[in-house]
Amino acid sequence: MKRKINARFVLLTVMSVILTLVLATVAYYELFKKEVLADLRSYTYVLEHAGVFDDMTAVKEYTLSDTDVRITLIDPDGAVRYDSQADAADMDNHENRPEIAEALRSGSGEAIRHSDTIGRNLFYYAARLDNGSILRVGKESGSIWAIFAGILPWIAGIGAGLILIGLVLSHYLTMQLLEPIERMANDMDHLDSMTVYKEMIPFTTKIRKQHEDIIKNAKMRQDFTANVSHELKTPLTAISGYSELIENGMATDADVQRFAGEIHKNSKRLLTLINDIIRLSELDVTEHDLTTQEVDLYEIARTCVDMLQVNGEKHDISISLLGTSCTINANREMMEELVYNLCDNAIRYNNAGGSVKVWVTKADGHTVLSVKDTGIGIPKEDQERIFERFYRVDKSRSKSTGGTGLGLAIVKHIVEQHNAKLEIDSKLGEGTEIRVIF
Ligand code: ADP
Repeated sequence: MKRKINARFVLLTVMSVILTLVLATVAYYELFKKEVLADLRSYTYVLEHAGVFDDMTAVKEYTLSDTDVRITLIDPDGAVRYDSQADAADMDNHENRPEIAEALRSGSGEAIRHSDTIGRNLFYYAARLDNGSILRVGKESGSIWAIFAGILPWIAGIGAGLILIGLVLSHYLTMQLLEPIERMANDMDHLDSMTVYKEMIPFTTKIRKQHEDIIKNAKMRQDFTANVSHELKTPLTAISGYSELIENGMATDADVQRFAGEIHKNSKRLLTLINDIIRLSELDVTEHDLTTQEVDLYEIARTCVDMLQVNGEKHDISISLLGTSCTINANREMMEELVYNLCDNAIRYNNAGGSVKVWVTKADGHTVLSVKDTGIGIPKEDQERIFERFYRVDKSRSKSTGGTGLGLAIVKHIVEQHNAKLEIDSKLGEGTEIRVIF
């Protein structure tokens, strides 16, 4: 980019220098022409009023061959009576020369003619005298090209100087232009205070946001890895401890039975954890290519409620389904998982004798799934955070009921992928309602 901007500056400088010099030469030549004609007019005026041509015999002896001014006297009929640089008798009729014709007509005339033979321009001024004759004064001068060639060394010198200054200036200008951008690239954390160009604000805002997202993601990943390691460690430590006791013969027969039970329970917990972790990472990967189909959410909820009926009875919790058939375009497996996770929580965080109600309805053109329980409820300050990975309100209750702390994280992921919305209503000690609005 630097090189490109610099090259454009240099091109601009060179072009403007050349253009200026050419135009200046043309302007100078126009001025020069005016000057020469004005001079000729003055000479004519002086000659006319000095009475030089009153006595032609004196004039005829007078030659001006050593100056570049040429004086000609022409009779009203166009015959040349006198010429300071040639023999008048040899010269043809001048009646039709533009400057003479004009002077005969209007009193004065001027003309510039180019002579190919001498390669120079001839300037003429003619005036009608009182006696009707025409007095013409002429002067040779170089053409525009000759003048241009004459000042070419000057032009080249000035041009080169200007271009050199332009080169240095464009180098500094480019650096100055790009310096804030380079500074911004080196310090992403303070983009706001460093943005010099207001046109760059949308760009820096986007970059900053991406930068923050990257940092946030990295932090989340780090936290997640630390949490996973910690979560895996607990059951593994238990398994390792109990099996070591058995191995060393330090357990009685009754203990062996109990230890085996612990080992079984902890390995099951490990499996659930690993399954949930794998599921989360799968959801991360399939973020962009979701395969969807028309599914009846009510049917899915019914299967889930049927499946959890026994589990509910075991904890003295009734579970029922209400609403009507609602078809949505979604991923079936994910919908099953979503309903299952919500119902499972509603049972696990419920009280004996409580109930779980699952609703599938249509409201304002949206399909709504609601899972409402009469359980322990969630404190206001935790309601936002329960969808975070491994976030639990009551860790021991979660663990004792086989929770991994990942169920609602999976729910949130699924909801986001279906462009749906999550709502939560919960009162401590009274119960919780979680709604998914499609
Ligand atoms: P877990 O496996 O621990 O249940 P979740 O991600 O499913 O993990 O839920 C996170 C936390 O949210 C739970 O530990 C629990 O404290 C709280 N929670 C979830 N659902 C309910 C509910 N229906 N009633 C009360 N608390 C709940």
